[in-house]
Amino acid sequence: MINVKNKNITVLGAKRSGIGVAKLLSHYQANVLLSDNDKNAIDDKTKQLLKKLNIESEFGKHSEKIFNSDFVIISPGIPDTIPIIQKIKQLNISIVSEIEIAYNFVNFQIIAITGSNGKSTTAKLTADILNRSGIFSIACGNIGLAFSEAVFASLQKNIKPIYVVEISSFQLENILNFKPNVAVLLNITPDHLDRYSSFNEYAETKVKIFTNQSKNDIAILNVDDENVLKFSKPKSNIVNISMKKNRDQFAYFDETYFHYKINSQWHKLMKNKIQLIGEHNQYNILAAFSAAYPFLNTETGTVSSLSTFKTISHRIEFCGEINGVSFYNDSKATNTDSVKVALNSFNDPIHLILGGKDKDTDFSELQELINKNVKTVYTIGETENKINSQLKNIKIINSKVLDVAINNALKNANKNEIILLSPSCSSYDQYANFEKRGEHFKTIFNKLKELYKYEN
Ligand code: ADP
Repeated sequence: MINVKNKNITVLGAKRSGIGVAKLLSHYQANVLLSDNDKNAIDDKTKQLLKKLNIESEFGKHSEKIFNSDFVIISPGIPDTIPIIQKIKQLNISIVSEIEIAYNFVNFQIIAITGSNGKSTTAKLTADILNRSGIFSIACGNIGLAFSEAVFASLQKNIKPIYVVEISSFQLENILNFKPNVAVLLNITPDHLDRYSSFNEYAETKVKIFTNQSKNDIAILNVDDENVLKFSKPKSNIVNISMKKNRDQFAYFDETYFHYKINSQWHKLMKNKIQLIGEHNQYNILAAFSAAYPFLNTETGTVSSLSTFKTISHRIEFCGEINGVSFYNDSKATNTDSVKVALNSFNDPIHLILGGKDKDTDFSELQELINKNVKTVYTIGETENKINSQLKNIKIINSKVLDVAINNALKNANKNEIILLSPSCSSYDQYANFEKRGEHFKTIFNKLKELYKYEN
């Protein structure tokens, strides 16, 4: 247990998790300084709230005061190569993760979910299955509601939810005692290689989710993923998920049905009743059900969840059609693996919008599927040149920005073809985050739809 009372604690970065953890720390009487080098990091309403909670804040700078901290919490988006963090390290000031602080004050069970892809979908689905089964749970973490914000709210309201926490590798970097009751590892594929010195380092960070687990905890492993098998060595009870025969324990898919066990009895649900589509989502369903399994007593919540739970925004999200051309927003696809998933999800020719901020991505990994399923690539953002040099034998139209890319694609696309934003890059070169990029895609689509209504 970390003692925070009367400690000087700096929180670097005033985004969702930074604000959440500052509130939680001040609730436990720490002296908190929230520091962000962006002058406009927060709005006036949040500023007032911080003041009311006695949280000191500074914006547009990082002051010397930071170096008097007992420890520092760094928001996951801040790279540890920046000078302020280098200095904090030189001074041997401890760096603690936001996840760790939230964990410190959790009063009930935690299901933690990590992996390169599928975290948000699996976390939201797990919480949905639990809630529909009458077991109160909150999906939080990397999802929108920070883990510490969820813990703070639960303390204030005196409630004890199961926390279903989506955790990125960044958040696992500085954990100490974090010990989830159930930990899920969905997959490990190359991602964030701009942040890690090697794939091994990235994979080792992912498996830290199991580090503090003991015999009474549960580790859920996707055993079809060779890297999950290679790097995970949990000491807890292992539950396998797999799409291959006889490797799974509590749930599996066959040609027609999803089979799942509750109270040692098997049940089944027709696959065509399930809203989430694609093989990748079948893994997410297996993982979500297996994570919820220890808490479930009846099958009704699972049936109602799986037959209503739809894909979350910005994940291969269908926006609508213009002149028979379908528009899909997959702004969340920020690595080649999720783009491959999207390209595999369609049978019709695709006009693919690719590009954004570079994450050391090797776009040639997409070559084979692009040649198979894509008609034209439209590039946007910082990575235009790199995409042009790494992709061969495909028509590429450099479009710089999303509006131009969509307009170019719509000019070229025929009836029954698809315009897909699945950028394989993060958004930070042109947008505040992937959500803003996806919203922009949808706004442009809606405007064009109006326009075409009058033209035809
Ligand atoms: P994350 O939170 O890990 O980024 P999401 O659930 O938001 O994952 O899904 C992001 C994208 O990743 C989806 O649009 C899809 O293309 C891909 N994806 C989702 N689940 C999986 C999976 N289990 N395996 C591989 N790719 C997946």
